[in-house]
Formats: sequence, C-alpha cells, structure tokens
Amino acid sequence: MELLKQKILKDGVVKDGNVLKVDSFLNHQMDINLFKEIGKEFKRRFEGEEINKILTVEASGIGIACIVAQYFDVPVVFAKKNSTKNIAGDVYRASVQSFTHGRVYDVIVSKEYLNENDKVLVIDDFLANGCALMGLSEIIEESGAKFVGAGIVIEKGFQRGGDLIRSKGIRVESLAIIDNMSNGVIKFR
Ligand code: 5GP
Repeated sequence: MELLKQKILKDGVVKDGNVLKVDSFLNHQMDINLFKEIGKEFKRRFEGEEINKILTVEASGIGIACIVAQYFDVPVVFAKKNSTKNIAGDVYRASVQSFTHGRVYDVIVSKEYLNENDKVLVIDDFLANGCALMGLSEIIEESGAKFVGAGIVIEKGFQRGGDLIRSKGIRVESLAIIDNMSNGVIKFR
C-alpha cells in the first residue's frame, strides 16, 4: 500500500532491537484518514470472503480494527491482556510472548463473543515473531470459529512471524512488508 509506505518512510523511526516506532500515525497519535485507507484496502483484499467478526488484541490493535470494521460492517472483539489468574467467567485463554516488552502475558476472550458460528478476520498493527497472532489463532481454534485470515498493517519480513503463520496455512495480508531496516534505512519487499 503506497500511501502507508510513504508514511512509514516519512515518519517512522527505527529504534534499537528491530523496533519501528510509528507513534505519530499508528501507535499513539492515530491518523484516521490513513486508517480509512487501510480499512478500504483490507476490504478489497478480503473481498468475497465471508467475515462476520474482527478480532484483535489490546491495546494498539483496537483503533485500527474499529475503523477497518466499518468497511466490513461487523463487530470487533479484542482479546484482553490479563495478568491475574482468577478472572471470572468462561474464557478462552492463550499465552503470548511480547515482542516489544519481552515478557509473557495471557490474552483472554469471553466465550460469549466467539464461537463455532464465527468467521474471523484478525487485524493487528505489526507482525514480528508471530506470537500475538499465534495466541489469537489458538483462541480461534479453541472456539471452533473459522480463521478466515489476518490483516497486518506492518510486517517485519526479516523476522520469523510471517513464515511461521503462513506455514500453518493461515492467509496473511500485510499492507507493508519491511525486509530490512538495519542502520536505520527502511527497505520494503
Ligand atoms: P509478534 O507477536 O508478532 O512478535 O509482535 C507483534 C506485536 O508486537 C504487535 O502487536 C505490536 O504491538 C508489537 N510490535 C512488534 N514489533 C513492533 C515494532 O517494530 N514496532 C512497534 N511499534 N510494535 C511492534
């Protein structure tokens, strides 16, 4: 997606540890006109697929997922990050290793909002090592819902997540794939 790539080149900042900071338009301040274009592009890419729910993970996925959902006219469910063990209610749960924070946390989704009748599109901001997506995939599998595909805004193609997820037969559509960002220079695929 050309508009997104230009935005990344203009405003993205490469940090230590293979982290791309995009706080000015994606992860802190949010560029809603760009989000709308992202929504239209995911709608175009998943045209013809039956999708009745969008699933994401808090916090950074929520804003994007909500704008994208307007183009699919479906509700958004976000997996909650949970640190306490004694949570009330009936939930699906998966463990996720955080790329940016380097710790393990649980994500949970209430069984009320995901079941075998759902056809799910996962939306997230980044795909790095694929841990977040694997966690959501486990939750979808446990619920019996159909995993239609994943829409990722920025995939870091030099990390293993994309290959890992695609090798499981999951369709991944990434709007910008970065193959290299060493020395602060971003190269797209
Ligand atoms: P993964 O689970 O694929 O290793 O990492 C995905 C999650 O980590 C994303 O949801 C995102 O929040 C965060 N993340 C991974 N890499 C980056 C990055 O380079 N920049 C930012 N801002 N977040 C990242």
